[in-house]
Amino acid sequence: MKKIQMVDLGGQYQAIKEQVNAAIESIMETSAFINGPEVHAFQRDLEDYLGVRHVIPCANGTDALQIAMMGLGLQPGDEVITADFTFAATVEVIALLRLTPVLVDVDPDTFNIDINALEKAITPKTKAIVPVHLFGQCADMDAILALARKHDLYVVEDNAQAIGADHTSKDGTKRKAGTMGHVGATSFFPSKNLGAYGDGGAIFTNDDALAHTLRGIVNHGMYERYHHDVVGVNSRLDSIQAAVLRAKLPKLDDYCDRRRDAARKYSKAFVGQPNILVPKTVNGCEGICDTCDCHVFHQYTLKITNGKRDSLVKHLGEKGIPCGVYYPIPLHRQKAYADERYREEDFPVTNQLVEEVISLPMHTELDDVQIAYITEAVIDYVSG
Ligand SMILES: *Cc1c(COP(=O)(O)O)cnc(C)c1O
Repeated sequence: MKKIQMVDLGGQYQAIKEQVNAAIESIMETSAFINGPEVHAFQRDLEDYLGVRHVIPCANGTDALQIAMMGLGLQPGDEVITADFTFAATVEVIALLRLTPVLVDVDPDTFNIDINALEKAITPKTKAIVPVHLFGQCADMDAILALARKHDLYVVEDNAQAIGADHTSKDGTKRKAGTMGHVGATSFFPSKNLGAYGDGGAIFTNDDALAHTLRGIVNHGMYERYHHDVVGVNSRLDSIQAAVLRAKLPKLDDYCDRRRDAARKYSKAFVGQPNILVPKTVNGCEGICDTCDCHVFHQYTLKITNGKRDSLVKHLGEKGIPCGVYYPIPLHRQKAYADERYREEDFPVTNQLVEEVISLPMHTELDDVQIAYITEAVIDYVSG
């Protein structure tokens, strides 16, 4: 058996080595390292893929979120509601801009923001909602967009983990994750579903005026050379990363299929096992139906319900199976984001998830032998 890795970037590289090397070499030959033609070409390709009017490439996913919020003109003291159960970058940029983060609980099945908790958290000071499409599937965007319309709020999608995922609305309209709110942000961190070979990120919007504002902010607030109209930042996607991403983008759907395929095999193996809950997709098919395209499985995350999660992590480690706990501490209990506004009883789901979740190896190169070895090890230990 091949050595099992949490993320197998090396194996994936071997399959696309020629295209990627040629793309990188072309940048080396032209020396167009910053804002070269590859950046614009990638931008166009991604706009086409996502069906969105504007993609604004930038340096990383955290910047993408920050710049999105700057572009909306949010002001210090404005309240921004987001999920308690996410990577810290989401809340970090809210705090950094002196906006007031309002953390709310999540749904136990999808791990995404809980709509009732979200609605309860809306006050006259609320200006924006930041749904995080955690682990590869969209939050309930129909409900979120309806609430946003009702209360006149911006929606900033944190799409770092769900690029390529589809979202089907109740009326049947299908759209790509990250393109439904006023603005979306994604990350091309190497281990993300569309990963560069370094840092990278992008902002998406269908709003022409906002796109114009954002393009200035990423480049020192300049709309005309050496005219600084707004306070900006320096956040660019470099040409080498754009070339790598441009070579990988045509493979993204195939990468998503392979992740879904691995997820289905995992879930099928866990059917009926006591104390192991497999991840649920929004349409309730438990990730094992053959038609579902709503989840791109950035992570494949189980819930272990008999208190054995921590010892399972250790056990799998001993068997040569890497795994991860995303996330071990709710944001409302992190030193940087703790606040007297938060009460433990408002976060029953997140508080339980941090004790139960475990993410298994998930990438495009997993094979059946590895999946069988992993599922057997989990079942033997948890249910055996
Ligand atoms: C990875 C990630 C980010 C940040 O992306 P970087 O490119 O690492 O800055 C933001 N939000 C979520 C949910 C992420 O998973």
